[in-house]
Amino acid sequence: MSWLIKDEKYLWHPFTSLQEKKMPLLVKKAKDCTIYLENGDELIDAVSSWWTNIHGHGNEELVKVLTDQAQNLDHVIFAGFTHKPAISLAENLLRITGYSFSKVFLSDDGSTAVEVGLKIALQYWSNIGQTNKTKVLALEGGYHGDTFGAMSLAGKSDFFKAFNDKFFEVNSLPFPTEESIDEIEALIIKLNESETVACIIIEPLLQGSAGMRMYSKYLLNRIFEVCKKQNILIVADEVLTGFGRTGELFASLHQTVKPDIIALSKGITGGLLPFGATLINQKVVAAFDSNDKLKTFFHGHSYTGNAICCAVALKSLELLERNACTENRQRIHLAHLNAQNHIRKHAKVKDCRVLGTVLAVEIENGESSSYFNNIRDLLYDGAIAKKVLLRPLGNVIYTIPPYIITNEELDVIYKVIAEILDEI
Ligand code: PMP
Repeated sequence: MSWLIKDEKYLWHPFTSLQEKKMPLLVKKAKDCTIYLENGDELIDAVSSWWTNIHGHGNEELVKVLTDQAQNLDHVIFAGFTHKPAISLAENLLRITGYSFSKVFLSDDGSTAVEVGLKIALQYWSNIGQTNKTKVLALEGGYHGDTFGAMSLAGKSDFFKAFNDKFFEVNSLPFPTEESIDEIEALIIKLNESETVACIIIEPLLQGSAGMRMYSKYLLNRIFEVCKKQNILIVADEVLTGFGRTGELFASLHQTVKPDIIALSKGITGGLLPFGATLINQKVVAAFDSNDKLKTFFHGHSYTGNAICCAVALKSLELLERNACTENRQRIHLAHLNAQNHIRKHAKVKDCRVLGTVLAVEIENGESSSYFNNIRDLLYDGAIAKKVLLRPLGNVIYTIPPYIITNEELDVIYKVIAEILDEI
């Protein structure tokens, strides 16, 4: 049986209909920004393999750390045991986030990092005896993962139709704009009239899955400030925005008010391994530091604190902090701005936006902008045919490349986007 027939027989792929007629592409290897297929084709990974890969595929330093660590200590139960890679990683995560937080809770991916943040925020109020503080706020269009807590945060939608009646209640706030910000502030104050709001969870500056929607630091700060005044815990979901994606190392840490909790994943291991980390500030940690056993945070996963993930994440942080990486991110940003100037003039373009290393093009096709916009497959197939992996979110085509991408590769991506715009 051919590999692809076996794939169809045995595997269930994410976000993919079982009726999907197109075979998946069989990958042989990946190196730097190139994905090599078994059929001999080579594609540019313009989306960092679901936004995870920041240092390029097969980075030799990361691979070396991975193999060395695996030979020494692979995985050990993380309750009652610890190890140097986890301790060093925690120390460095706290340092790189400017000591805004005081403890690190490790988990497996973005969804678990968010779940941990949400559960800690809710239990905080219970631990300090304010059991009336139970409401959760989130932004309309937010996406925080596919576990039940994370799905609840995103709110009811066609996407999660089968589960809508199982979600806990979350109060949704409008997407932040100059026009909506006063309304958002007023809504937060109103929802918290009886001081019942526990926390807000927010993708800072960039809503990824909603279509790479961007908003300013000023608007984020306004939300953070009102939440702080209202005694509402702030949970920043930096699963996508963390580790330099939006320009700054972390999108939520350049405000006058800092979040209480931050959820990290994706770029944390440079794209090599699944991993998540939730960082918690001292105010929140203190509420768990109790001799009352019931105030313990009873949460953990079998692979929590995996030593290989910790070692790779630590090395990835080192690469991230090198000048070469900072320069690469600045170079990509400037190239994106230049491309934006050209792309935005195209008649088919509704909006072309740039934030850090993210360039997104919203296409006008007479339908409303959404994940389910019918133009999506045409865009995806068009790019693959031109040997670039772009995975549009409905009518929004975007690139979010590994930081080591070359100028030549970037030019190919911009050219392919321009050609696709001409062809539709
Ligand atoms: N939060 C955000 C902002 C995300 O973009 C994602 C995934 N795209 C998640 C959480 C969930 O992460 P994971 O898929 O690793 O569970």
